[in-house]
Amino acid sequence: MVHKVAIIGAGVSGLASIKGCLDEGLEPTCFERSDDIGGLWRFKDKVEDGRASIYQSVFTNSSKEMSCFSDFPMPEHFPNFLHNTRFLEYLRLYAKRFDLGRHIRFKTTVVSVRKCHDFPTTGQWTVVTESDGKQESATFDAIMVCMGHHIESHIPLQSFPGIEKFKGQYFHSREYKTPEGFQGKTVVVIGMGNSASDIAVELCQTAKRVTLSTRGGSWVMSRVYDDGYPWDTIFHTRFSNLIRSVLPWPLLKRVYERKMNTWFNHENYGLVPLNRALMKEPVFNDDLPSRILCGSVAVRPIVKEFTETAAIFEDGTVEENVDVVIFATGYGFSFPFLEESVIKVENNEAPLYKHVFPPKLEKPTLAVIGLIQPLGPIMPNAELQARWATRVFKGLTQLPSESTMMADIVKRREKRIKWFGTSRSQTLQTDHIEYLDELAEGAGARPRILPLLLKDPRLALTMYFGPCSPFQFRLTGPGKWDGARNAILTQKARIIKPTRTREVRGSSDHALVSYWLAVLGLLALLAAVFVCLQ
Ligand code: NAP
Repeated sequence: MVHKVAIIGAGVSGLASIKGCLDEGLEPTCFERSDDIGGLWRFKDKVEDGRASIYQSVFTNSSKEMSCFSDFPMPEHFPNFLHNTRFLEYLRLYAKRFDLGRHIRFKTTVVSVRKCHDFPTTGQWTVVTESDGKQESATFDAIMVCMGHHIESHIPLQSFPGIEKFKGQYFHSREYKTPEGFQGKTVVVIGMGNSASDIAVELCQTAKRVTLSTRGGSWVMSRVYDDGYPWDTIFHTRFSNLIRSVLPWPLLKRVYERKMNTWFNHENYGLVPLNRALMKEPVFNDDLPSRILCGSVAVRPIVKEFTETAAIFEDGTVEENVDVVIFATGYGFSFPFLEESVIKVENNEAPLYKHVFPPKLEKPTLAVIGLIQPLGPIMPNAELQARWATRVFKGLTQLPSESTMMADIVKRREKRIKWFGTSRSQTLQTDHIEYLDELAEGAGARPRILPLLLKDPRLALTMYFGPCSPFQFRLTGPGKWDGARNAILTQKARIIKPTRTREVRGSSDHALVSYWLAVLGLLALLAAVFVCLQ
């Protein structure tokens, strides 16, 4: 019988796991190597070993209504996209509200996690921790690994001939903190992920020249989407998801490409992805196109070779007198405290059932939480993973056989490659709504829209056509939260509140009419899709 659970890490996933354990009546002990909560979201001006490291200007790229915990909406005055300090403030509010802090042992590093000798019958683990130079060993009934995947820099120097001769400075984006010290410098940023784009845009305001060097390009999206709403509140609706899943693949590719090019033509900006059809994680950057338009950032192909002072790009163009090269080339991950027989990481992939459970364990008492990169916010995903995992620990939800889990891992991998491609930066990519629903099924909290349509049509329609926000997974089942219905029905007001700081008379009626017209239009479209499918 599982009771004592060890949780490794007190970031977003760790906090969600502590809460998940408490909700299921389990006894969590969370080990955090630093002296505070927040993980990635706690900015420090120096890089620390074994901790994720962000730059000072990081803002979330998923919005507050979509990235909050499902029973704890963000304060309505919070902006839609949050500076890292604000997001940390939210995590502190969450920890305080549910009194999570007393389950955390700070400045305690997990050194090893090993199966107990009677693991096949008990499923227990021996956890060795180190604090103040002293080691301690304890037995736990289950383990939740919540250490994130932005700690180990991936810096592929072998792909950059001549880098050893280069006399300037080079480093991984993990080391980048602020634009201080880059005034008047010529900088080359390698990569085309969110880090590379953010850093290039920030540095171009003070540096002499900034070049963004990409091998594959990327779709660049604005946080500001249709009608000015946060992108994810429009993109991640159940209705849009249905359309994406029923459209034939060639048509979907065309629609997607067209949508991505609505803001600006990616070809003209040298950004267009090599494989345009992939739903590879886009870059969210409201300033990049404008910086390119103003000539402050130049986009070039990948560097073919470095000399002592220059970068020679694949197309033969050369950037002379380069002072700094920043490798924003992503991250890797590993589980140094676990044996490879439990989880073996190969090519930046870990074979986990639904990204959570190692399939070959005799007892399902170890779960990895947050080892995903969803096409949406990670918080609700990690939270549902934790809710599902705690129920599996308790035996309230069963896992299928090892062979079924292995087959699922293979199938999921194939789907991921079809949708997101084979790039190393996409190995943890998951879709959003489908994955949330799957997890919720396991957690006993999946909402059923059709029955709800008869019982509470207003709620059902808002859930179907509105943002698929985390509150949808607190309406029913274990962990049901009485505030969920109201949180869903009032989310639009919370989105608008921090931006509509000057009241404009008469605009609400217009907005209401447009809203209902949109709902009617979408209903008609939905009916048409169903008719076509008959
Ligand atoms: P990333 O998304 O993994 O991107 C790495 C980039 O480096 C990709 O463009 C990749 O190109 C390129 N790359 C890797 N190896 C290369 C090689 N050998 N040669 C040339 N190019 C190479 O890393 P990241 O930008 O640091 O982001 C990590 C995660 O943090 C992402 O999920 C991101 O969304 C998130 N993030 C969020 C924010 C925010 O919320 N504001 C800010 C920064 C980062 P290919 O694509 O061609 O492989």
